[in-house]
Amino acid sequence: MQFENTLGFAQSLDKADSLAKYRDEFHFPQVNGKQAIYFTGNSLGLQPKRTKNYIDEIMTDWAELAVEGHFHSKKPWWDYHERLAEPMAKVVGAKPEEVCAMNTLTVNLHLLMVTFYRPTKERYKIICEEKAFPSDQYMLQSQVRHHGFTPEEAIVEVKKREGENHWHTEDILKVIEDTGDELALVLIGGVNYYNGQVFDMETITTAGKKVGAMVGWDLAHAAGNIELKLHDWNADFAAWCSYKYMNSGPGNASGIFIHEKHLDKKDINRFEGWWGTKKDSRFLMKPEFEAPASADAWQLSNPPVLSLAPYLASLEMFEEVGMKALIDKRNLIVSYLEYVLTEIDKQTEGSFEIITPEDRGCQLSVFLHGQGKELFDYLMKNGVVIDWREPNVIRLAPAPFYCSFEDMFRFGQILKQGIRSLA
Ligand SMILES: *Cc1c(COP(=O)(O)O)cnc(C)c1O
Repeated sequence: MQFENTLGFAQSLDKADSLAKYRDEFHFPQVNGKQAIYFTGNSLGLQPKRTKNYIDEIMTDWAELAVEGHFHSKKPWWDYHERLAEPMAKVVGAKPEEVCAMNTLTVNLHLLMVTFYRPTKERYKIICEEKAFPSDQYMLQSQVRHHGFTPEEAIVEVKKREGENHWHTEDILKVIEDTGDELALVLIGGVNYYNGQVFDMETITTAGKKVGAMVGWDLAHAAGNIELKLHDWNADFAAWCSYKYMNSGPGNASGIFIHEKHLDKKDINRFEGWWGTKKDSRFLMKPEFEAPASADAWQLSNPPVLSLAPYLASLEMFEEVGMKALIDKRNLIVSYLEYVLTEIDKQTEGSFEIITPEDRGCQLSVFLHGQGKELFDYLMKNGVVIDWREPNVIRLAPAPFYCSFEDMFRFGQILKQGIRSLA
């Protein structure tokens, strides 16, 4: 498609957009009395207007039914999490029994490490990407120390090439092959939070399995953003949060994936609690844990329904729209944003550079050459909500659920004015 950097052209794309009506289903922050241009759905997705009803329903049931709400509310609390499994499985390309909504992301990564990181003297190394999201780094470091290793000996980081901003799949494959028999686990963020790169999860998973390692994915920036086929790719496990592209609210519940092939194992290592045991015998309060053949076995506590409620609201929206429609719009809106940026860059003589590689989802990361923080501040003051990452990077994620093509055009105009007025 031949793009144009004009208001009329942007509006014509909005007219043709089958998801345009969903914009009205979200609350937007206001800046200077106007609806903001929101680029931080990769950090905290906007609040769907319908979410409040899902929370109110639980508040009302709690008020009216109290403990009886566990079994007798409209959506009973005791197995509330099961309502999330099917739509969540579709978002990540899994079978419903392979996923469960529970806890928060870093907590789940630690729990999954209990099962999938079982180092021996010979096989104890973990491969991850350099400069992984800090929580993942701290999680891995504390896990290897917990097992008596030092991060220096056990953690192998795949580096970017000198002077480049992204990773090459072949470099990751080489590190996997070189680590070989010593490799216990590959754990990488499926979409990098900093440069927006989408890793070739299928190829990397296959390579990790080939040398006998476990392979897991942190999908914080991938769930609800890109196409995932966790089951078919044969990943061992994965976890994600729900408050980024999944719009379920600040700090909210996480989801886990455990591949079917691990669900029936009797001798699997796992930390257990009463909500993991089979539901039909749970209230017999027996001393023996009986695992169901599903990811639910990894649950510890009874489900926090007040945080699952907004997650369910969001998943029902994903179910309505489907990942395919979201991805189609995402591709178009990100390409249009890229085009607008390129046009503005020409008009302002190379003020910035997009560092996101072609393998990308919703996010473009932009390195600012001239004005850094001042330009960021200018944008924020003028109604553009973006975020800043050291040393000089802004991240722009036009979430297809609620961002418009007109937003992209207007952003370009504000950016140009900012660069010129600060020059
Ligand atoms: C956002 C993000 C997290 C956040 O972890 P929480 O436990 O939800 O605070 C973890 N890992 C990655 C890669 C992230 O992008």
